[in-house]
Amino acid sequence: MAVKSLSHNSEAALIKTEQPILGTVLSVQANFYWVRLDSTTENYCLSIDKATTSSNQHVPQQLLCTRRSRLKKMGQQVWVGDRVRIAEPDWNSQRGAIIEVFPRTSELDRPPVANADHILLVFAMANPPLEPLQLSRFLVKAESTQLAVTLCLNKRDLVPQDEQQEWCNRLQKWGYSPILVSLHHRLGLDALTNHLKGHHTIISGPSGVGKSSLINYLIPSVDQRVNSVSGKLGRGRHTTRHVELFELPEGGLVADTPGFNQPELDCYPNQLSQYFPEIHQQLAQHTCQFSNCLHRDEPNCAVRGDWERYEHYLSMLDDAISYQTEQDQRTAKETAMKIKSGQKGHDRVEPKLRTKRYRRKSRRSETQNLQDFCGNVQEMLSYEADD
Ligand code: GDP
Ligand code: ZN
Repeated sequence: MAVKSLSHNSEAALIKTEQPILGTVLSVQANFYWVRLDSTTENYCLSIDKATTSSNQHVPQQLLCTRRSRLKKMGQQVWVGDRVRIAEPDWNSQRGAIIEVFPRTSELDRPPVANADHILLVFAMANPPLEPLQLSRFLVKAESTQLAVTLCLNKRDLVPQDEQQEWCNRLQKWGYSPILVSLHHRLGLDALTNHLKGHHTIISGPSGVGKSSLINYLIPSVDQRVNSVSGKLGRGRHTTRHVELFELPEGGLVADTPGFNQPELDCYPNQLSQYFPEIHQQLAQHTCQFSNCLHRDEPNCAVRGDWERYEHYLSMLDDAISYQTEQDQRTAKETAMKIKSGQKGHDRVEPKLRTKRYRRKSRRSETQNLQDFCGNVQEMLSYEADD
């Protein structure tokens, strides 16, 4: 890979061609990607720059990139959080092209974020009130991503100390140690930033709980936040709903995702229990009689019982059963349809022919059958004649 604009002598150019330019996609809009260059790449370019040029050329930390058409043809999408390799950087205009997307360690599709390793679930202790079932649903959704989950309760300034303690005790039984903070009063925030350091965190939670206030606190430099694709393209950041990653001053990335109030669970009944830490705990000590127990009304179930979130589990189990039914119906429909390529690339979906019994016979096989039949009749007639 060549760093063309920096090559001023052949030796330096030779070293430069071996140095890949790597980075992380921080934001995506339409077909443009802001890529934060790895500090190794940046340092390297700066040192080459100083060694090979007399001018003090500016090497940007981020490049606005397009995606190489080869990637488009392969159907390779570029997501926020993707680790990428860049070619043909133009340092002056801060442009480049993404030529490779490295394999992802994790993928979240709604919203699309690659390589996250942590979810920070933010709720408020009051205003809006902390609803246990809503919190439970967010927790289960977060657990279903298989990423590490941290629970943060904001607005602790609005509830008395004993109520804060009650919530902590209650959530401990759910399997969580929440971090209680107040963004307004700057309380508990060191513990929170420690949890974020070095991680690639997705911030999630209902609206009104203080997620924007948290991002403003974590990334105080407005420039850092506005230096997004939308900014570069001359549009406001909030004109389009898109995910954006921000770099934390202490290291790490956080994703600002649009708030949502009631996440869809989209999980199957047999998966649901994995997303409740209390069930894990119970099953570590006792086992249910049936390995596929849904912990509802099966005999000798080790999970059914008197624990706070059991009601939540049952209500989510109903949703999971409905989800399974929907998926089964969809699969049945899809297997009953087939996609037929039409003219000019217009594909049509047609009902699949059912079992052989119902298929219309081809002319050729009909003719063959008729010939066989005639042969049989002639044979029978000749037998009759012999008799
Ligand atoms: P978001 O919708 O989750 O992004 O929430 P915002 O950050 O927009 O905050 C919603 C409201 O809560 C705003 O009016 C904030 O000023 C307020 N708020 C945020 N943090 C705190 C806090 O620690 N205490 C109190 N009392 N209010 C807060
Ligand atoms: Zn059971």
